[in-house]
Amino acid sequence: MTATCVRIPGDGIGPEVCDAAVRILEAASAGIEWDEQLAGVAALDAGAEDVLPESTLAAVRRHGIALKGPCTTPIGGGFSSVNVALRRGLDLYGAVRPVRNLDGVETRFKGVDLVVIRENTEGLYSGIENTVTEGVVTSLKVATVRASRRIARFALDYARSRGRKRVTVFHKANIMKLSDGLFLDCAREVFVGTEIEYEERIIDAGCMRLVQDPTQFDMLLCENLYGDVVSDLCAGLVGGLGVTPGANIGDSGAVFEAVHGSAPDIAGQDLANPLALVMSSVMLLNYLAERDGDEAYRECGARIRDAYDAALRAGQKTRDIGGSLGTRAFADAIIARL
Ligand code: NAD
Repeated sequence: MTATCVRIPGDGIGPEVCDAAVRILEAASAGIEWDEQLAGVAALDAGAEDVLPESTLAAVRRHGIALKGPCTTPIGGGFSSVNVALRRGLDLYGAVRPVRNLDGVETRFKGVDLVVIRENTEGLYSGIENTVTEGVVTSLKVATVRASRRIARFALDYARSRGRKRVTVFHKANIMKLSDGLFLDCAREVFVGTEIEYEERIIDAGCMRLVQDPTQFDMLLCENLYGDVVSDLCAGLVGGLGVTPGANIGDSGAVFEAVHGSAPDIAGQDLANPLALVMSSVMLLNYLAERDGDEAYRECGARIRDAYDAALRAGQKTRDIGGSLGTRAFADAIIARL
C-alpha cells in the first residue's frame, strides 16, 4: 500500500476534520503519502488568485485521488464554487452518498441503508445565468444524452458491484418535460431489462415517501440539483451532516469529501464531527483497493469502520449526535480502538 493522495484541508471546520481523518488513516497504517494542496478561502489567503488554484487541480489530476475538506464559497465577488470547478475540471461526473443508520446514533428510523447517486456536471449547476432585462433573470438547465446516459451506467455498475437491488429515479418530468424527460429516457434505456428493479418517482412525492419510510428505498438516481437537496434530506434521516460521507468519481480520478460544508458557526472550536470525512476516507480506501487491485486497503477501511462503530456503540460521540466529545477526543477514541 503506497498510494499518494492529495489532501485539501479546506476552510472553516475543514482543517480540523481533515486532521482527524488523516490521523486515523495513519493510525490504521493505511500507507498513504499526502500531497497537501490549498483550495477555497484558504487558497486566497495564501495569495492565490482563484479559490481553485491551477496547482491544486494539477495535483489531483496527477495523483488521481484526493481527500478534501469543505470549502467556503464566497458569495458574489465573481468566485465560482471550488466544488463545482473541481468536479467540472476533473469531470467527476458521479457523486456517491451512502446513507445508513449507525449504531449508537438515535434517529427516528431504523434500517435505513440507501445510496444517493447524483449527476455532478450539468442541470442547473451549469451556471448559465443571464439578466434578460432589469428585474428579470434566467438560469439555464442543461441536460445532455451523454451525461445522463453515463450517470445511469455509473449507477448500474455501482448497483451491480455493491449488490443493490433497486434504483429509483427522482424527477420532475411532468413539468420539465424535455430536460428531466431526457434524463428519464436515458435511465430507462440503461436499466430496463437488467436484473436491477427500476422505478420512477416525481421528486415531491418521492421526498414525502423518504421522510415517511426511507427503508423502502435502495438507490436513488438524481440529476444535479435534486441530488444535492435529497442528499442533505437523507443525511437528516440518519443523524445529520456530521455522519454522511461522499465521493465524486470520474473515469480518471476521484475526490472524497463529506456532504457537509465548512460550518463557519462552529469552526475552530473543536466541535465539528469528523465522522463524515472519516467515513469518506473509508470510501477512499475501498476505491484504492479497486483501482490498485490491493485488498489490503479494503481491510484497512474495515478496521476503521469497526473502530468508529465500536466507539459510537460505547457512547463516544460528538455533540451534534448526542455526545460530549470534541473533534480531537472523538478521533482519539477511534484511534485507541484501532
Ligand atoms: P454547512 O454544512 O457548513 O452547515 C450547516 C449546519 O450543519 C451548521 O449548523 C453546521 O454547524 C452543521 N454542521 C455541518 N457539518 C458539521 C459537522 N461535521 N459537525 C457538526 N455540525 C456540522 O452548510 P452551510 O452553512 O450552508 O455552508 C457553509 C459554507 O460551506 C458555504 O460557504 C457553502 O458554500 C460551503 N459548502 C461547501 C461544501 C463543500 O465544500 N463540499 C458543501 C456544502 C457547503
